[in-house]
Order: sequence, then C-alpha cells, then structure tokens
Amino acid sequence: PYDGPSAADIARKRAEYLSPSLFHYFSNPLNIVEGKRQYLYDERGRRYLDAFAGIATVCCGHCHPDVVDAITAQAKRLQHSTVLYLNHAIADFAEALASKMPGDLKVVFFTNSGTEANELAILMARLYTGSHDIISLRNSYHGNAACTMGATAQKNWKFNIIQSGMHHAVNPDPYRGVFGSDAEKYVRDVQEIIDFGTTGQVAGFISEAIQGVGGIVEVSPGYLPLAYEKVRKAGGLCIADEVQAGFARVGSHFWGFETHGVVPDIVTMAKGIGNGIPLGAVVTTPEIAQVLTRRCYFNTFGGNPLCTAGGLAVLKVLEKEKLQENAFIVGSYLKDRLRGLQEKHEIIGDVRGTGFMLGVELVTDRQLKTPAKEEIGHAMEHMKDMGVLVGKGGFYGNVFRITPPLCFSMEDADFFVEVMDTALSKL
Ligand code: PMP
Repeated sequence: PYDGPSAADIARKRAEYLSPSLFHYFSNPLNIVEGKRQYLYDERGRRYLDAFAGIATVCCGHCHPDVVDAITAQAKRLQHSTVLYLNHAIADFAEALASKMPGDLKVVFFTNSGTEANELAILMARLYTGSHDIISLRNSYHGNAACTMGATAQKNWKFNIIQSGMHHAVNPDPYRGVFGSDAEKYVRDVQEIIDFGTTGQVAGFISEAIQGVGGIVEVSPGYLPLAYEKVRKAGGLCIADEVQAGFARVGSHFWGFETHGVVPDIVTMAKGIGNGIPLGAVVTTPEIAQVLTRRCYFNTFGGNPLCTAGGLAVLKVLEKEKLQENAFIVGSYLKDRLRGLQEKHEIIGDVRGTGFMLGVELVTDRQLKTPAKEEIGHAMEHMKDMGVLVGKGGFYGNVFRITPPLCFSMEDADFFVEVMDTALSKL
C-alpha cells in the first residue's frame, strides 16, 4: 500500500514550488503512484485502464519487467555520460535501431528528448544544404526550444521569440482541410512557399505522419511522396518526426512514414523508444552525418548507458511479444468499434488514425464541425470516474487521443468503448 503524501499535499507543493505553466487533467488531479502493463494505480490503489500511456511514451507497458531489469542491471554497473569512453550499451542499441531503418539510414545520434532530436535534425539539414528555410505543416508539433517552436505551427504552443526561416504549409487534413484528402492540391502550397517565400532553395521539410498533439490528424494519403519530391528538387532534406507515431505504434509498420511509402533523409524519435525513460534519437545517412564533424558536437546524456540499455530492452520486448502486430489487430478492431459509436452518438464528428494512434473528434454540429470543447472535458471526467484514462488534443482541444501501451488487449478495447459510450450518453 502507498504511504506517501496525499494528492492534496502534492498539489500544494506543486503550486508553490513548480512551474506555474504545468497543467493537469481533471478538476481533482489524480495522484498516480504505480503502473503495470496497461494499468495505472492511484494512491488509494484504484486501477485505471491507461489509453494514453503518458502521451504515447510507454510502448511495451508500464514498468515492463524486462526493461526494468535492463535498466537496473546497468544502473548497478555504470551510470555515466555518453562521451569520452567506449561502452557497449550505446553501440548495441544504435546497431539495433539502425536495423529497423530502410535505405542508408544507419547513423544514430542520441538525445534526451524529442525536442532535442528535432533541433539536431534541423541543424543538420541546414548545415548539409547550406540553406536556412524549413517547411513544416500547420497544426504540427515538433518541440519547444527556439528552432522547434518555430517549426511547431499552432499558436497554443508558440511564444513570441525569434523563429527565423520557418514556413508553414497548408495542412493536408482530410477532415478539416480545405481540399479534403486531395494531396495534389495541398502540395501546391509547398511549391508556392518554395517559389514565393524562399530563394528557391530550402534546407528541409519536417512532418509527422500522424499529427499527435494536433489531434491525431493523418496526413492525406499521397501527400508525403509529392511533398518530398518538391522539397528535394529545391535542394532540401526530408525529416520524418516519428516521436509519436514511430516505434510500432501504427501497427501496420514500425514507422509512420512507411505507411506513406517514403524514405526520409533524417528520422527523429523519442517517447516510446525509452518506454518512459528520457531518450530520443536522430537517424540519418553516413553522408549527412558527416556535417557534424566540422565542429565539436556532443550531448552529455543523450544515449547514456542507462537509457540505451533500456531502449534495447524495449526493442526486444516489442519483438518477443509481437506488439506491433497487436497494435495492428487490436487497433483496427478498436477503430471499427469507435466507428460504431459514431453511428450512435451525433457528437462524434470523426474517427481516425491507425493502429494505436487513434482520434475521436467531438463536434456539436457535424455540418459546421463546431468543436465540442466543454463536452470533451466532461466526457473525460466521466471516463476517469469509470476507470479509464484517455488523452485529448487538437488545435481546439476537442479530440480524444487514444494511444495506449501496445499491450492493450481486445478486452481492453471493448471496455474502453463501453466506457466512452456511457460517458457520451451522460452528456
Ligand atoms: N515531436 C512530436 C511529434 C511530439 O509529439 C513531441 C512531444 N509532444 C515532440 C516532438 C517533442 O518531444 P519532447 O517533449 O520529448 O521534447
């Protein structure tokens, strides 16, 4: 049993000593003290089915024993920075990660977060091309440091600092976008940005395959191959941000970009890669990787032995337990069942996503697509009261984000749908 401080005590300390910008879910925030597989437990020992996995960070299940054992064994042996000496944990994980990549993508740079990974990817694209301009998609999220905040294209996440050389293309959003799913029409904007907003040469293009923070928006089919073509013609590199969609989450493939049939020049990842520990990575080709030899470049803790020992264990668990397959089978089933809910509840405007990266958008008017911002908050509270945790996001904050640990079962999917059904009926 838990004998630590109460939720009220923690909330008081947090209000006094922690960042005032921290936010939390629910009117009475939960005090989560333990996690096991797809479940979280609060201070009273109450169990919740976790359908958000700490924003898609936990991939093979909370506190998976194999991952915990790998980290613990490494912690007892050596905790150190990444640089200066040889250590097998870093090299082993880099090799394993490279084996999951297509083409010539095989040089790995480790970081501590997704933001760092994207900052590094953009830096390399700029150095390699000698150009400065970067194109990203509106509604995207790429991080919160100066450069990645610039690439992020939602006012909710932007502060007024210098964000030079960033251009945001019209979002190929099949539900809310002006051209529906017409990839060719959307991609004209990429060409126009190049023609009218830059010298005609760009450093690169960065995009998620499925926008996570943006509300599980799947980039229109056919868009990425066309956008990559335009960007490469203008001398730019193509960066795939796999921070949320990567690491088996989309089910049909290991990486989100693979669902679009493209091979990026640089791939960035974080979140699921460490199953909850701080770890990120950039993978690129040997040729592009060379740019960082022009000066000194290192990251003290990025890829430290503790985190990379954990990362390698995560990859092994994904394979051993066939979790990508599970994400595909259970994710497809869950999506079908959510589509069924859409027929029953007028408030569900859209159901979308792939594998275990699913979104349910709530609207008060299906024709006008008016965001149901208040309603989603109430529904989340009801679901929490019934023992289910889910995320929300999207520009208007009206989209359920369903990104469970990849061990989520058929029974969990059924329970999740029943609880969402009841919660929506209560509105
Ligand atoms: N890219 C994407 C697609 C993300 O969702 C996030 C985090 N939400 C980031 C980058 C930034 O990652 P981090 O918070 O680890 O810096």
